[in-house]
Amino acid sequence: MFLHGTSRVNEQGHLEIGGVDVVELAKTYGTPLYIYDVALIRARARAFKEAFRRHGVRAQVAYASKAFSSIAMVQLAAEEGLSLDVVSGGELYTALAAGFPPERIHFHGNNKSWGELAMALEHGIGCIVADNFYELELIENLAESSGRTVPILLRVTPGVEAHTHDYILTGQEDSKFGFDLHNGQADEAFRRVRASAAFQLLGVHCHIGSQIFETAGFVLAAQKVFAKLAEWNKAHGFVPAVVNLGGGFGIRYTEEDDPIPVEAYVDCIVEEVKKQAAACGLPLPEIWIEPGRSLVGDAGTTIYTIGSRKEVPNVRTYIAVDGGMSDNIRPALYGAKYEAVLANRMFGERTEIVSIAGKCCESGDMLIWDIALPEAKPGDYLAVFCTGAYGYSMANNYNRLPRPAVVFVENGEAQLVVKRETYEDLIQYDLPLKTKVKK
Ligand SMILES: *Cc1c(COP(=O)(O)O)cnc(C)c1O
Repeated sequence: MFLHGTSRVNEQGHLEIGGVDVVELAKTYGTPLYIYDVALIRARARAFKEAFRRHGVRAQVAYASKAFSSIAMVQLAAEEGLSLDVVSGGELYTALAAGFPPERIHFHGNNKSWGELAMALEHGIGCIVADNFYELELIENLAESSGRTVPILLRVTPGVEAHTHDYILTGQEDSKFGFDLHNGQADEAFRRVRASAAFQLLGVHCHIGSQIFETAGFVLAAQKVFAKLAEWNKAHGFVPAVVNLGGGFGIRYTEEDDPIPVEAYVDCIVEEVKKQAAACGLPLPEIWIEPGRSLVGDAGTTIYTIGSRKEVPNVRTYIAVDGGMSDNIRPALYGAKYEAVLANRMFGERTEIVSIAGKCCESGDMLIWDIALPEAKPGDYLAVFCTGAYGYSMANNYNRLPRPAVVFVENGEAQLVVKRETYEDLIQYDLPLKTKVKK
């Protein structure tokens, strides 16, 4: 059985998460419903932090809030002593509204607007991860008009692109993000930043990809970053205070995925940074990482109610649920794979192979192809696992489906943390057509 965190099967044969019966949750809050196992999120956050603590190095573990941003989630990250990545004014606004300490917020993005940067500066956030020359100009102008010095990291593209089970080495990375390490852009950005009183250059940042199962890509990225830092140190005496190696640590969506424990990534990153810093004659910088998916991904489960069934003889059987690409676009967008169970019949024998369809008007709106389940009837509850990252945060109102509610469960208690949208919510920004003036 494919269960994560505190998930288990109770005496009634129902899925239980955080000590709460999922069937009861579905009845109370309706479906589709996102359920988060708070204890699992806490355990992951602590595992990352503890791994750095064991090495005795200064570090920040920043939750990449794009994976799932809400007031309660940001507050949970604060409670666990995480830092926070935001990539837009909206995510920043959410963080500030949640009372997240501004000095632990890092602002990412390849096209931050003047307004977004002004907002970040006004609230004194911890650092801006500067991505391009246009942004440097905006920050400089803002800093000058406000008389502030802005702490920044330079985002560099190291020419290492990591994917699930392999990584690609490219001399020059074809990416919309960051300053290229190899073609002189990073050097030019460095000179520009050092020549201006507007910036306090903390160090560099790189992020090599997502859903990565190997440590090799991180080692390589650290090597490339330090090669550049060594140059800057020799030529300009620059001593980095921070090296940020990004996120992208992989999780187990299906039996096919075989992630390594979070400690293994941290161990490898710390060892390589220590080695590189020593080799370059640099003091050990603070090490920052930015997990998103690996903090919240497998802590999230989506519950749907099963509705219609369509059998295509000798081809397949479609089982449709009351959500789909509106609450989980990842299968349609990336061909992402998921595991699922019938949450109300966990002891049921898996006697048929079916494909799970969403209810949107789009043939590509499929959640899972060819999964073994007990014979599903209308009204059964389907639980899809590992929907905690890039599920709600990518949810949309296609076909004017209201976005689902989100509940946190922990120690036998459930708490609604995002309300379900209503039909009224869906039309709240619509304005009626102007009536034509009669002649
Ligand atoms: C998306 C992103 C992350 C988090 O990625 P995960 O795969 O969710 O861990 C971290 N840093 C940056 C810069 C990102 O763009």
